[in-house]
Amino acid sequence: MTLRLDNCVLRGVIRNDVPNTIDGWLQMSSAAPQPTILLSLVGNLPGRLAGQSLLLSPPTAPRDTWPLPVTPSRLHRQQIGVFSRCTFRTTPQNSCSFAWHGPNGLVRLDSSNCQLLTNPGDTETTSLTELQLDCLLESDSDSLSPPFPRIPIPSVSQLPDPDQLVSDQQAWLILQPLLARLARAAVSFHMCPHISSRTALQQLIHDVLPQLHSDSYTPGQLRLRSFTSAENCSVCQQEFRDWLPPAPVSRPEKPRNPLKQPFPVSGSGSRIWNSGSGSTSMVGW
Ligand SMILES: [Zn+2]
Repeated sequence: MTLRLDNCVLRGVIRNDVPNTIDGWLQMSSAAPQPTILLSLVGNLPGRLAGQSLLLSPPTAPRDTWPLPVTPSRLHRQQIGVFSRCTFRTTPQNSCSFAWHGPNGLVRLDSSNCQLLTNPGDTETTSLTELQLDCLLESDSDSLSPPFPRIPIPSVSQLPDPDQLVSDQQAWLILQPLLARLARAAVSFHMCPHISSRTALQQLIHDVLPQLHSDSYTPGQLRLRSFTSAENCSVCQQEFRDWLPPAPVSRPEKPRNPLKQPFPVSGSGSRIWNSGSGSTSMVGW
C-alpha cells in the first residue's frame, strides 16, 4: 500500500546534484510538532530532471482552504531507501509527484507549488543543506522510532549473478527492489557517483548481504546499519586522501652533543633493605 503525504508536506527540497544520490528534507504540516523528514535515497531523477533539485513550497491557495494535514504517526524521520519515480509539470502550474521506497514502504507526495532549481550552488539550496545538517545534529543519534518491522534479509542465493546481467538497466531493476527491502529492514546503502548499478549490486551481494547474515544483526533492530560503496571505490578513496590535511614533515633528529648530556649517575636511587634483624635500614644501591 502506498503512503501518501500530499497534504502533510509544507515545504522541502529534493536534490540530485550528486549522481546516484537523491537527498533532501521535508517539513511537515502538522498540528503537533513534527521533526523534519530527511531523505537519503539511491537513484537519479529521470530525463531532464537529472542532476537538478526540486524546491517544494506551501500551496498558493489561501491557508484556510488547505485540506487538514494528517501526518502519519508511523512515518520514519530518516527516509533511507531508493528512488521510485518523479514527474514535473509546468502547466497549469509548476507541480511535481515524487515517490520512493523507504522504511515505510512506497511513499508518494504530490506538490502543487514547486520550482526546478538547475544550479546546485544556488544559495537557497546551500542554506537548506545547512538546515539539513542542523537537523541531523539535533536528532538523537540514529535511533529509530517507530521500530522497524522484522523484514528478513534476502539471501545471496536468491539473487542472480551480476556478471551474467546483460545491461546496467537490468542490474538497476534488481538493485531497486533489493534496496527497497533493505530499507524496510533498517539497512541503508550509499551509492557513490563513480559506480554503476551492476557494481553496486555486486558490492551488495558480495560484501553487504554476507555481513548482514553472518554477524549479530537482527532485522528491524533499533539502529540503522549503514554501508557505502565509497569504501571499495578507488576514486572516493583518492578524494578522501586529497581532502586530508598534509601530514607534518618530520625533521631528522639531530645527533646529540655528548658534552651537553646530563652526567650519568650510577648507583643513584635507593631501596629499603631489611636486614632480617627486625630493623629496617636504608642502603645505597
Ligand atoms: Zn566513489
